[in-house]
Amino acid sequence: MTDLTHLSIAEARDGLAAKDFSATDLTKAYLGAMETGRCLNAYVLETPEKALAMAKASDERIAKGDAGPLEGIPLGVKDLFCTKGTRTTACSNILANFVPTYESTVTSNLWRDGAVMLGKLNNDEFAMGSSNETSAFGPVLSPWLPPNHEAAKVREAAHAYMSARAILTEMPPKDIPLKLTGLVPGGSSGGSSSAVAAHLCAGATATDTGGSIRQPAAFTGTVGIKPTYGRVSRWGIAAFASSLDQAGPIARTVMDTAMLLRSFAGPDAKDTTCVDLAVPDYAKAVGKSVKGMTIGIPREYRVDGMPPEIEKLWEEGAAVLKEAGANIVEISLPHTKYALPAYYIVAPAEASSNLARYDGVRYGLRVPGKDIIDLYERTRAAGFGKEVKRRIMIGTYVLSAGYYDAYYVRAQKLRTLIKKDFEDAYANGVDAILTPATPSSAFGIGEKGSGDPVEMYLNDVFTVTVNMAGLPGIAVPAGLDPQGLPLGLQLIGRAFDEETLFSVASVIEKAQGSFPVKDQWWA
Ligand code: GLN
Repeated sequence: MTDLTHLSIAEARDGLAAKDFSATDLTKAYLGAMETGRCLNAYVLETPEKALAMAKASDERIAKGDAGPLEGIPLGVKDLFCTKGTRTTACSNILANFVPTYESTVTSNLWRDGAVMLGKLNNDEFAMGSSNETSAFGPVLSPWLPPNHEAAKVREAAHAYMSARAILTEMPPKDIPLKLTGLVPGGSSGGSSSAVAAHLCAGATATDTGGSIRQPAAFTGTVGIKPTYGRVSRWGIAAFASSLDQAGPIARTVMDTAMLLRSFAGPDAKDTTCVDLAVPDYAKAVGKSVKGMTIGIPREYRVDGMPPEIEKLWEEGAAVLKEAGANIVEISLPHTKYALPAYYIVAPAEASSNLARYDGVRYGLRVPGKDIIDLYERTRAAGFGKEVKRRIMIGTYVLSAGYYDAYYVRAQKLRTLIKKDFEDAYANGVDAILTPATPSSAFGIGEKGSGDPVEMYLNDVFTVTVNMAGLPGIAVPAGLDPQGLPLGLQLIGRAFDEETLFSVASVIEKAQGSFPVKDQWWA
């Protein structure tokens, strides 16, 4: 029998319907892969009993002819999504041992449609980061090997790290004595991208505030879509920056992300920013012709020092779409250069407010103090990591009385201008915009941002604009760099027009092929 973990979600659905294998077989195959792949540190909690019980229920529904659209499909859940009765930490010490009494809307939609939960996936602490290195559970390894690294050495270091870390029994351990070597899977949804690329789940939930779905997808050769703001409910997802946060799927094919997004999306009375719009059958948009569509190439994305392989990838992507009958036009999004600085004001401002709720009284960690203020201070000092504290301080500063107008108000004005740039392009007949997803391929663990955090922030240069404008964006694998590492292209659409993105992305996917990880060196 073929390795069931190598089927796409669409193939697995067909195999289940044809009774080639059962949902229990499929779940067991993934549970086995997760065990072998533990040294990637992609999961922070495995839930095998729950998975097997859900798979059994799926098999019963399949037998009765009562299968949902994702019946029996094993998924990983980013640890930012609340799962009822299952520990949810946002990969922060401040939520150590937090067990939600409710389920996020996204995950309850997935279970309603028959999907199976395999466990909770690692992420940057409160989704703040671009490499998964800010997680209290430690970094995640990409299944892609760094150039010139011997698989045996990377594996040995990873196994040593994981045994020091005792993943399944202990809460975020403070001082892990060993270092991991290897490539980052991107962030903040690094557990999601690594697990999907390494076949440790068929698909995963993820969130994107400034690129956290699209950048990790690009770094690992997987597909990730950030839907339009308001398409998916944010209820039950730990908030980072509420006006930018949006959940979406990461999977191995465009079709699989289309199938997953259909379940994620839809109106929800529990989130007032979630729109009351019918959800299209996104799978129908996959493979649709792009003939006659107009694809914009924004000149401002040709940033200084862009590596030649990224330019080449971008040109090839445009050529593929032209060949398929689309019109390629150069466009201008004049305020692009302000997006990154404005994002790094708006996002921390909202984060500082959202994270005020973690005070040691209501949730998670509590460090006793001599009075209530002392308790707050001790709890927050012990519970938050360095990057989260940095964001809270920046956010508090830009919102403070003397600086509010100079920073926060100006950033909001820039946001309006950035949004208008896109509106103008779409008003001129552009159907979608093509850009690189990231300025480089994946970098090494420990390589970026330890001296200057801005070095890390620069990674988000192509993705944050989309969140600032509230638009949908998809990252699709489009090639390999000279070192053999995956690179992705990004497509940006009109508000609530995810369908066009699925159509255009599937043309690129078909022409450029897929980029699976070659061998399971971690096993
Ligand atoms: N890397 C960006 C940040 O650190 C975006 C993170 C995200 O999208 N959650 O803020």
